[in-house]
Amino acid sequence: MIYLDNAATTKVSPEVLDAMIPFYTEDYGNASSIYSFAQKSALAISNARKQIANVIGADENEIYFTGSGTESDNWALKSAVEVYKGTGAHIITSAIEHHAILHTAEWLGKNGCDITIIGVDKDGVVDLAELENAIRKETVLISIMFANNEIGTIQPIKEIGEIAKKHGVLFHTDAVQAFGQVPIDVNELQIDLLSASAHKLHGPKGVGMLYARKGTKIASFIHGGGQERKKRSGTENVAGIAGFGKAAEIAVATMQQRSEREIQLRDYLMGEIERIIPYCRLNGHRVQRLPNNANYSFEFIEGESMLLMLDVEGICASSGSACTSGSLDPSHVLLAIGLKHETAHGSLRLTLNHETTTEELDYVVANLEKIIQKLRSMSPLYEDFNNKQIQS
Ligand SMILES: *Cc1c(COP(=O)(O)O)cnc(C)c1O
Repeated sequence: MIYLDNAATTKVSPEVLDAMIPFYTEDYGNASSIYSFAQKSALAISNARKQIANVIGADENEIYFTGSGTESDNWALKSAVEVYKGTGAHIITSAIEHHAILHTAEWLGKNGCDITIIGVDKDGVVDLAELENAIRKETVLISIMFANNEIGTIQPIKEIGEIAKKHGVLFHTDAVQAFGQVPIDVNELQIDLLSASAHKLHGPKGVGMLYARKGTKIASFIHGGGQERKKRSGTENVAGIAGFGKAAEIAVATMQQRSEREIQLRDYLMGEIERIIPYCRLNGHRVQRLPNNANYSFEFIEGESMLLMLDVEGICASSGSACTSGSLDPSHVLLAIGLKHETAHGSLRLTLNHETTTEELDYVVANLEKIIQKLRSMSPLYEDFNNKQIQS
């Protein structure tokens, strides 16, 4: 199997698994208990908090563990509204956010908040002038993702941080794709709130975190026993948190070398696709993009068929349809960058990891070429297009 869907989730690395197992087997104490046995769990959580804070230049007391990146995103938006304004609050976000942000914003919109969704250019970069113009006195939060999960575009986070600061508005970033992949310094970038998730960096599923800058008020999100400094109750997922900490530590230690290698491989992949497959288009910014992301639209192709045929060849990838929702609506991200519905449907996302090899990529491109030829040969649109070419 060739796994090129690392933006969807990643394999837990062996070191991470080793760091987790003791908290299921020997050291299973509840971190809140008083006896020394349980203190091993408390210590593991505190250790992980440091390892995770270190990824973004934060203080360990600014990290709150959650159950997912989705939860962290929900918390950031709902908390800003609750603490800073209540109903009548205004939030600014972008058209290419993950549904964890967009659907939360939509829900807040139905519950008395005002939401502005700003657009992006053809490369998926937010319009800074539109962002600044959208700010008003009721604005409590700007939430713009660090890097996009579909097209890989990295946003001008420093400039957004400056705009937010200048107007005294909180700045949240969904950094689930960027955390541990590209350098992030929350102080330099003036980020107040940040979401991350362990399973996107070779950690376990079901563990996330919210960074909240010291002095930023956050509402208690899950009520109960008062864990996470009374902000997010529920017995801590000690093994998961320890795994997240280990994954963060490895991500920092390997970031530079790993991203250099991934960029080289990804550029090779992009070069090969563009050389071999006609009528393709790169989605996302060519340079300001995640090291491991390649996203292409192929004209006259239906993405779902392409994925199924790749699957037959043992290749895991992702397309531009929101197939998770059971519908075949084209991706909101691809529409936001201006793609037509048909083009968005014919999109393919390939996301690499540190173990990806050139041989694997050669195999993928060779199969992709065959599959696209086959699908185009069955496409009436492609036939029409070719007939017109011949006539003109
Ligand atoms: C995966 C992802 C999420 C959701 O994180 P989960 O931990 O899977 O809930 C949110 N935002 C982005 C950008 C993501 O890629």
